[in-house]
Amino acid sequence: ATPTAIMVSSGRGAQMGVLFRKGVAIEGLARIGTVVLDKTGTITKGRPELTDLRTAPGWREDDLLTLAAAVESLSEHPIAQAVRERAEGLTLPEASDFEAVPGFGARARVAGREVAVGAARYMERLGLDTARFAAEQARLEDAGRTVIYVATDGEIAGLIAVSDPVKEGSQEAVAALRREGLHVVMLTGDSERTARAVAREVGIDEVISEVLPADKAQVVRDLQAKGQRVAFVGDGINDAPALAGADVGVAIGTGTDIAVEAGDVVLMQGDLRAVVRARALAKKTLSTIY
Ligand code: ADP
Ligand code: MG
Repeated sequence: ATPTAIMVSSGRGAQMGVLFRKGVAIEGLARIGTVVLDKTGTITKGRPELTDLRTAPGWREDDLLTLAAAVESLSEHPIAQAVRERAEGLTLPEASDFEAVPGFGARARVAGREVAVGAARYMERLGLDTARFAAEQARLEDAGRTVIYVATDGEIAGLIAVSDPVKEGSQEAVAALRREGLHVVMLTGDSERTARAVAREVGIDEVISEVLPADKAQVVRDLQAKGQRVAFVGDGINDAPALAGADVGVAIGTGTDIAVEAGDVVLMQGDLRAVVRARALAKKTLSTIY
């Protein structure tokens, strides 16, 4: 594309809420074959809400919630906020010695007890058995909910499920990208079952789940090593390396500053349909001489 074409298209992109931070991103977007979409905050709203709570025998719901919220009061994870919101009105003991375990959960000392909150794989890592809840977990995950466990002093006190609704437009965007012959992949740190359920809802059949934050960029590199030109779309701090490493990094403008800075293209409104419009514009730019 000529410099003039790129300039004109950048202007048109801006009118449709797409910021091309680098002129070469226009050509790059026209040439991709694969679109990798982060799940939380990209396909979904990134604002989970607590939907279910199940206690182990001998536990009261409020006690479970109090311990979980005390730990989550020190976490910046979106799930933490959902737990805190539901615990509003409860008196939380102070938590200390907090530690985030990326991709797994978080732990802290709460009123002299050790409390861990996180995915089933986090419980396994702590030597705790979630088998008693397996059927319930599967049922919740098949509904697209994320299940986290609360454990204290070597005992599972119960589980909490959160639901993060799909954004308006995600399904339509996926359908349009697939119609264009693009290979669409979902990438997430969430469990396989939850990821599959959300993928089904938006029409994606390739899912790469339970990926640790630090490994997202490697997944993009692996796809590139197979000869694919990859656009990665993401919103989180964790997504910055994958955004930078992709052939085209597409940042959700309503996401974290770190992601936005790592993107070659920024979707100002966070609606995935803008990716489809941006690509149509990019293809037109390559084929048109203004
Ligand atoms: P994603 O890539 O889907 O945004 P993350 O890598 O941030 O996911 O987290 C993966 C999983 O780790 C979550 O689905 C959750 O099960 C668990 N997790 C991480 N941090 C927390 C936390 N503070 N509280 C509860 N669960 C957590
Ligand atoms: Mg995200």
